[in-house]
Parts: sequence; structure tokens; C-alpha cells
Amino acid sequence: TPLLQVNDLRAKIVESNVQILHGVNLTVNQGEVHAIMGKNGSGKSTFAKVLVGHPDYEVTGGSVVFKGENLLEMEPEERSLSGLFMSFQSPVEIPGVSNDEFLVMAYNARRKKLGLPELGPLECFSYLMEKLQLVNMKPDFLNRNVNEGFSGGERKRNEILQLAVLGADLAILDEIDSGLDVDALRDVAGAVNRILTPQNSLMMITHYRRILDLLNPTHVHVMDKGKIARTGDISMVETIEAEGYETVSAST
Ligand code: ADP
Ligand code: MG
Ligand code: MG
Repeated sequence: TPLLQVNDLRAKIVESNVQILHGVNLTVNQGEVHAIMGKNGSGKSTFAKVLVGHPDYEVTGGSVVFKGENLLEMEPEERSLSGLFMSFQSPVEIPGVSNDEFLVMAYNARRKKLGLPELGPLECFSYLMEKLQLVNMKPDFLNRNVNEGFSGGERKRNEILQLAVLGADLAILDEIDSGLDVDALRDVAGAVNRILTPQNSLMMITHYRRILDLLNPTHVHVMDKGKIARTGDISMVETIEAEGYETVSAST
């Protein structure tokens, strides 16, 4: 059975009642890497946020099954504990809570959900060190307050560190490559590649080919007007770069 099965998913913005998703269909299996591309405003971020249960949106139709369970009936926190990851960085800084405390709390909550014992302070420390190494980040990063003074690039790296620490069956990364210089992009992509295994899957929203060349998606989708308008493999990215989204979306 698929890891994620999205059928005819429809959703609107709660505040304005505006319908954004108009019937999204998507199947993700274990070990696959799915790229979601598409024009600004086509609904990519909305799709991701609806999957993780963001309160700004209300599902108006369709179904989502994740690991055999009805995802739409689960609270956002439960979705994350069950292995659906999307960066949980808040736009506000959390005074007095350091990054490592935050990560350890989140990781121990997930261990509990998996039926594993919580890690004590020393085990936590070595686990975090191992993951820092995996994503190639400096230990001083852990002592910073959550989101306090993180640059754009540091936020992106922190997102990958969160993913490495928590682990996930399906990770959703929304424009993880935006605003990164070439070196940072290579680092981040390398870290994502080290996190990926045949047992987990990635859904990556991006505008750019550079990160796709580094991550080798198994599937490439183009979203248009709240639907997945076209699905192909990495070769479709060349067509998009040459001709833009319009021809690619129109040729369905
Ligand atoms: P993308 O990520 O593909 O650029 P989005 O999903 O962010 O597109 O947005 C799709 C459309 O929905 C846009 O027109 C955007 O302005 C609108 N939208 C999304 N979320 C909200 C929101 N919370 N409030 C108001 N408008 C929103
Ligand atoms: Mg956008
Ligand atoms: Mg977006």
C-alpha cells in the first residue's frame, strides 16, 4: 500500500472562504522523491500546509490516507508524531528555549509515540551530535534560542536538522533551496540525501532545477490552479525551463 494517497483533495482558506485546492491527486510510495513545481500562487504551499493540518485551511472534499490511516481526522501534532514532517519553525522567536531543548522535546515526544523510551540527557547529547554531523552543522547552533537571529540560510539548515533529529516517513520541504547560495545549497542537498533512505520519502516544493539535479526526484509534478496538472520524470524539468509552466500545464 502507498505511504501517502491523496484523492481529489479540495480545500479553502477559512478566513476568506476562497477555494484554493481543486482536486489534488497524488500517490507517494516508500523511497520515492517527489518534486512539486508550478507557478507562484498555484497552491503548492497550501497543499503542503493542508497535509500537515494548518488551521488557516479547511478541507472541503477528498481524502488523504497516510500509512493506512485517515490523515484528515488527525490533529496536526498527531500527524507529525506519526511521521509526517514539515518544518515546525514558528515565525516568532521563543525566548529562553534553546534549539537543542526544543529538538530534544520534539524527539522524545516522537519516541514515546513509537513506543520507545525517552532518551536521558547524555544519550540526547550524543544523538544530537550524530545528527549534527549528518547535516554538517556546528554544535554552537544548538545553543541558540529557537529561531533567534537565524539568517535565511540558517533557518533552512535548521529545518534539515529538525528533520534529521525527528526522522520522518514523509518529509515535506517547501522551497528549502530559496535564498541559498550555491555552497549552502550543495550542503543542504547533501544533508537531505544522507537523511533519505529506501524507507522514507520526500516531497519537495521548488522552482529550481539546481536542487533537483542534486536530489534526483523519482517523480516531478506541476501544480496549476490548485491541481496537479502534469506528472513526469526529471526530464520534464528541462521542458519547463525551456518553455515555462504554461505549455507544460496546457499539454494535459
Ligand atoms: P504557491 O505556494 O504555489 O505559490 P500558495 O499555496 O501559497 O501558492 O497560494 C495559493 C493561493 O492562495 C494564492 O493566491 C495565495 O495568495 C492564496 N493563499 C494561500 N494561503 C492563504 C492565506 N492563508 N490567506 C490568504 N490567501 C492565501
Ligand atoms: Mg510561492
Ligand atoms: Mg509557496
